[in-house]
Amino acid sequence: MRYSKLFLPTIKEVPAEAEVISHKLMLRAGMIRKLASGLYSYLPLGLRSLKKVEGIIRQEMNAAGAQEVLLPMVQPAELWQESGRWEHYGKELLRMKDRHERDYCLGPTHEEVICALVRHEVRSYRDLPLNLYQIQTKFRDEIRPRFGLMRSREFIMKDAYSFDVDDEALDKTYQAMYRAYCRIFDRCGLNFRPVEADTGSIGGHASHEFMVIADTGEDIIACCGSCDYSANVELAPALSDEPGQDAPDEAMRRVHTPGKRSVEEVTGYLGISPKCLVKTLVFTSDKGPIVALVRGDHNINEVKLKRLLRAERLELADNLTVSSVTGGEAGFIGPVGLKGRVRVIGDNALKGIKNFVTGANESDWHLAGVNWGRDLAWPEFSDIRLITKSDPCPRCKGGIEFKRGIEVGHVFKLGTKYSEALDVTYLDEAGVARPIVMGCYGIGVGRTVAAAIEQNHDENGIIFPRPIAPFECVISVVDVTDEAMMSAGERLYGDLLESGFDVLLDDRRERPGVKFKDADLTGIPLRITIGRRIKEEGRVELKLRTQGKGGATSPLLDDAAAEAAVIFKAMDHMGSALK
Ligand code: ATP
Ligand code: MG
Repeated sequence: MRYSKLFLPTIKEVPAEAEVISHKLMLRAGMIRKLASGLYSYLPLGLRSLKKVEGIIRQEMNAAGAQEVLLPMVQPAELWQESGRWEHYGKELLRMKDRHERDYCLGPTHEEVICALVRHEVRSYRDLPLNLYQIQTKFRDEIRPRFGLMRSREFIMKDAYSFDVDDEALDKTYQAMYRAYCRIFDRCGLNFRPVEADTGSIGGHASHEFMVIADTGEDIIACCGSCDYSANVELAPALSDEPGQDAPDEAMRRVHTPGKRSVEEVTGYLGISPKCLVKTLVFTSDKGPIVALVRGDHNINEVKLKRLLRAERLELADNLTVSSVTGGEAGFIGPVGLKGRVRVIGDNALKGIKNFVTGANESDWHLAGVNWGRDLAWPEFSDIRLITKSDPCPRCKGGIEFKRGIEVGHVFKLGTKYSEALDVTYLDEAGVARPIVMGCYGIGVGRTVAAAIEQNHDENGIIFPRPIAPFECVISVVDVTDEAMMSAGERLYGDLLESGFDVLLDDRRERPGVKFKDADLTGIPLRITIGRRIKEEGRVELKLRTQGKGGATSPLLDDAAAEAAVIFKAMDHMGSALK
C-alpha cells in the first residue's frame, strides 16, 4: 500500500470522551471513528488489524476442528420465546418489528439460531461431535457503552457452538477450545490469563474467561500469590472462618443517628468497627424481593446471590420497593421487623456475629445490641460477598491478590440448557433420543485489538505486536522528490511485497519528522528509512518500533529485505514485547 493513497486520517487532539489509552490511540491513529454512542466505523488501518486477529482465530479454530458458518443477524422472536430469553434477556436485546408487525431482535449472541439450525440437521450420534463457528457483528444495547471498541454496542465477535453426545465428550471439546484460545491470544502477542468464571444461573458447569492483564480492565481477578489459582472475583469463594463471638447478650436498643446513612458515617458516629454493623440490601428478582445482609466491611457479590437464587434477573430495588419491604428508607433499613414474608439471606461471615448494629427501618435511627434468634429470625446463610485480601486462597489457603483484566474471550460448558429448551436431540446407539450436550465459545475481535494496544504502547503511540499490526513494515522515503531515494524506496517496496510482507510505502510529500511521528503513532513494528545514506553509501536504516534511538541497523539496500526477514523471524521467537 502507498501511503499517498491510503485513507489514514491521523489526528493530534483526541476527543475528551476517550478515557482509556486504546480508545485515544485508535482515534488518533485513524483506525476508528465514532458514528453514535457505541457505534464505530472501522477505517482501513483498524480493519486491517481486526482482520489479522480474525485470521489467527480462523486458523486456530479450523485447526481445532471447528467449521465456519455465517448465521443471520436478525433473529425471530419465536426462537427467543422458545428458549425463554425473550423475557429474561433484558434491555441489551434490541427488539424490532417488521412490516407485518412480527417481532425480531438483533443478535447479541446466537445460541437460539444455532440450535434452530442443528436440530433439523443432526439426527444420530454418528453426526456428532460438531463444532460450528462464525465471525460476525453482534448488537448489544449496553447500558454504558465506553472505551471505544472495548465496550461498544455493535461489535465483531467470533462465536462457536459445540455439540456432543455426553458430558465426557464435551469435556474433550472444551479442552480443545481452551487450548485453541491460549494459542490465539499467545499469537496475538497478549499477556493474558485464563480465569475461572461464573456460569450464571445454569450452575454446575465449567466456564473460563480469558483476561488480558491491564490496569484499565473492567474485571477484577482474584489470584493466589502461592499457587496458580485465578478466578473472576465474581466467582471466587470467600472462605475465611469467622469465629463465633461469646460476648454476653446486650439488650436491643434504638440509637439516634441523624442523617447518618453510609457504613462510614454510622460507624464513625457511633465509634464502632464496621465489622459490628450489618448492612441490608433489598433486591428485586424474578424470584420475588430478596433481602441480603453483609457485614459493614464486606461487599455484596450480586453474581453469587443471583446464582444462589437461580434467578434470571436480579437488581437493586427502587425506593418504593425498599420501603414496602422494610418500612424504612435507604440508609436506615435493617432486617428487624420486615413487612410480610420475604426471603432473607445473610452472608456466612454473619453467622457468629452478636450485638450488632443495623438500620431501624425508621429515618435517622439505627438499632444496636441486635442478636439472631432473639430479635429476629435466623436468616438463611450463604456465601454472598466479594472475596477480600484477608480471605484465604480457595485452593491452597495462600494469600489473595487482585489484578485488573479485560475479558477478551469466554469458554462455557452449556450442558443441555439450550438443547432441552429448543429440542435439539440425537438418537443414541440404542435409538433413544437424548438432548445434545453443548458448549459455547466467544472472542471479542475489536476488544482483542483494543486490549493489545492497552498492553503495548508508549508516549509516541501504539506498539503493535507484529501478528496483528495493520502493516508489518513501513518504508519512509525522506524526500520523495529525490529520484535516488524514491527509486530505492520503490525497489525495496517491490522486494518486500514479493517476500510476502505487509508493507506500507510512505511516499507522501511530507517532512521526515511527520513521517516518523505517524509511523510511531500507528505502531508499525519495523521502519525502514531511505535517506541521504542511500546516495553516499547505498545503505538504508532499519529500526524496530520497540527500539529507542539506538539499536538501528544500516544494511545495504540489496540486503534490506533479507535483514527484515531475519528480524521478523527473531521477533517470532521472542516474547510478546517484540512480537
Ligand atoms: P462483558 O462481561 O464484558 O459484558 P460478556 O460476558 O457479556 O462480556 P460474552 O457474552 O461472553 O461477553 O461475549 C463474548 C466476548 O465478546 C467477550 O469475551 C468480549 O470479548 C466480547 N464482548 C462482549 N460484549 C462486548 C461489547 N459490548 N463490546 C465489545 N466486545 C464485547
Ligand atoms: Mg456483557
